This record gives sequence, C-alpha cells and structure tokens, in this order.
Amino acid sequence: MSTDLAATDFATVAAESLALVPGDVILDEIVAARAPWSAIVAAGDVLTIVDLCGNQAVDTLFYGGADHTVRYSAAVTIAMQGNIFLSAGSVLRDADGAAMMTIVGDEVGNHDTIGGACSQESNTLRYGHQTKHQHACVENFIGEGARWGLTKRDMVSNVNFYMNVPVDPDGALGIVDGLSAPGKRLALRADIDTLVLVSNCPQINNPCNGFDPTPVRMIVTRPVGAGSK
Ligand SMILES: [Zn+2]
Repeated sequence: MSTDLAATDFATVAAESLALVPGDVILDEIVAARAPWSAIVAAGDVLTIVDLCGNQAVDTLFYGGADHTVRYSAAVTIAMQGNIFLSAGSVLRDADGAAMMTIVGDEVGNHDTIGGACSQESNTLRYGHQTKHQHACVENFIGEGARWGLTKRDMVSNVNFYMNVPVDPDGALGIVDGLSAPGKRLALRADIDTLVLVSNCPQINNPCNGFDPTPVRMIVTRPVGAGSK
C-alpha cells in the first residue's frame, strides 16, 4: 500500500489492504458522518476502525453478543491497566474483569475512556440552549441500541476512540484537537462474541471532530487459520 494515499482513497482501497490484522474480510462498511453503527464481532475476529478523514471521535459501547448484561466497564478497565488512556495492549473488560476486546493495533496511541458521550443535555449545558436541536451521540446509541433490545437504562460509560481528552494537573478535562489523521487505524480483537455499538460523533461545538464530522470505515477480518464460526 502506498504511504501517500489521499484522504478520499481510504474509503475505496481494498479492505484486505487496510485491515490492520490480515485475514478473510467478514464485513466492510462505511459509517456516514453523524450516523450510528453496530455489529457482533465473533470471538477471534478483528475489527479495524479507519478514521477516513482524521480527527473523528468514534464513541463506542461493548456488550456480550449473547448476554447484554455483560457490558464494558470503564472503571474496571482503567483500574486493571492502571491508565486512563487506551492504546495497543489495552484490554477492554466487563464489570467482573473479564476480557471483552483487546486493542491489537493502534496508529494513534491515545484514546479516551472518561469523556463520555455527547447528549442534548450536555450540549445545552456547555454550549447554550440553541444547541438543543442538534443530533448527539446519546440519541445515536438509543436508536441503534433499540435494534438489539437495548434502552437508555443499558447505557454505560463509553470509549471515545480517536478523541483527545488530556487531564490537566488540577484534574480538569480538556477536549482538544485530535491526534489522529486521515487513514489512521485501530484494531480490536474480540475475546468473546461482542456487540459493538458505535456513534460516529455528530458534535460540532468542540474540536473532537475538527468541527466537521466525517465518515469512518469498519472492517472485520477473520485471521487465516482461525477456522469457521
Ligand atoms: Zn458525540
């Protein structure tokens, strides 16, 4: 693969050459700007998320594919790795400490666990009442989660892939310009069958999407030799 692909090329280049972990391509979908997305990634399969245009926050929740009461726990994940940021080697864990997915490739190096998902409520509090009509991640999660029988009651703290949320010495959180760039990739290996629920963040009031929400690409590969599921 050429190293000087234009941003638009990442949407059309063959999935086989973009997947961070090679294998048979099980799924290859573009998530439109501002849109939700979901799929079950089978144990052993690898999800590569491609930030097609750069600086795009990908808000993500994880549930057991067969048992939705198994769900990602930010608190347990942070405590067990002793780090609030995610990168290669990070294990995303459920409330009992069991591995759900493991980051096996990361071209950015820093992903947020504590910034949460934007909502109409947080937008109006932070940016003013005129933002109340704006689409937000919580609405994406509720709409897409409904396809799997999930409701607002099932929502937990989410991961923000590609979102840059530094913590200042005084404990204050920032949401600042991203570290990602067009074509940057991240790969997650499923340790159990995992329902991955995504909001391709529609936020336009802070730099998390460079003030311009853009599409991302989801590629699931099954490493050769993993057998049929
Ligand atoms: Zn958002």
